[in-house]
Amino acid sequence: MSFASLGLAPALLRAVREQGYHAPTAVQAAALPPALAGHDLFALAQTGSGKTAAFALPLLQNLLAAAPRPGPRALVLAPTRELAAQTAQLLRDLASALPQRLRIALAFGGVSINPQLMALRGGCDIMVATPGRLLDLLDHKGLSLAGVQCLVLDEADRLLAAGFADELQRLLAQVPVVRQTLMFSATCPPGVEALAGQLLCEPQRIRVEEAALQITQRAIQLDRAQRLPALRQLLRDAGWRRVLVFVASRYTAELVSDKLFAHGFKAGLLHGELSQGARRDVLAALQAGTVEVLVATDVAARGLHIDALDAVINYELPRSAADYTHRIGRTGRAGAQGSAVSFICADSAENAESHFRLIEKRQGQRVPRERLAGFEPQAVSSEAQAVGGIKSSTRKSKKDKLREAAAKAASDGH
Ligand code: AMP
Repeated sequence: MSFASLGLAPALLRAVREQGYHAPTAVQAAALPPALAGHDLFALAQTGSGKTAAFALPLLQNLLAAAPRPGPRALVLAPTRELAAQTAQLLRDLASALPQRLRIALAFGGVSINPQLMALRGGCDIMVATPGRLLDLLDHKGLSLAGVQCLVLDEADRLLAAGFADELQRLLAQVPVVRQTLMFSATCPPGVEALAGQLLCEPQRIRVEEAALQITQRAIQLDRAQRLPALRQLLRDAGWRRVLVFVASRYTAELVSDKLFAHGFKAGLLHGELSQGARRDVLAALQAGTVEVLVATDVAARGLHIDALDAVINYELPRSAADYTHRIGRTGRAGAQGSAVSFICADSAENAESHFRLIEKRQGQRVPRERLAGFEPQAVSSEAQAVGGIKSSTRKSKKDKLREAAAKAASDGH
């Protein structure tokens, strides 16, 4: 299956190529033809399935075909600031390949409204927003929704779970009844089904099975001092072409990438203190394959668009379970198989084992512990010492002393 066979215009075919998309994902293949034909859609698809482009591409193509008029002509509602920002970014990237200039506005709460109002002064063609802030902007007469021809509800289940039901109803009352509506949701609880019934007109229903996020998680126990040689062995054995290695600090990032580089790996470095230009260069190098192992801190990797990673390695564990999910979600995207490997060091300053157990608990999944041959840990975790320390300690218990004395007396007697 190719994008061309789905009916995409040449400019958008160029745009998807520039994004590095070679073939449509399952949700894109299913959504594009009906959405391009102007039908309403109800798609059940997870994050990672390529759902954003599944609505962004037809939205842009349909806008191009329609006569220009005051906007916004398309409205995308998203539950979170992060999702709204990512969606606006993809729309901007795709739109940059188009012959006609489209203005894409972004608005979310938690920041001052004034710059968003200012940005809307010249009008916009596409508005991407979280519901609460969009209502604020409407109250400030920053825009009107009377010209909306296409409405997208992204992650409808999260929109409802985040308590946006009332805001949605107030917004929907301001959007024209005659329009195209594309609704995406990862799950379909009764509230989402009811919303679909209210909003959609004879929709095409699409269900993409959970093949999208295929991440094999591994947890390897080893000593801190063994991490670098173990990492080298892992990288060599697995033959990954694109790997992100997460560390906790700039110092470790520099150390690990230098050492890998010295051992002949195509290693790169990404941390928060790099300039924008340097970040762009190293990401382009990763995309081009001149860098294969990128050593990064969380700060630098947040919000990045890196496609088709083979593996993510937690050289040092993230602080929170949310960061863990965020890190490992960078592999196994858009139907590709990915690996997430975590190093669990018993001799780390924090108790890595119990910290990782907490991460497992939060994500509701247990990851079997492994040891790499030749890198078996020698250190005993502080927790293990606490539990088993009395037995293994050199201080003898009263009972042991009595037993020894009895044995000695017995042997003396013989
Ligand atoms: P989404 O489900 O929209 O959050 O997309 C998840 C990831 O898949 C993003 O990093 C996209 O860049 C990537 N992606 C989307 N469509 C494709 C495609 N056709 N081929 C390869 N990667 C894609």
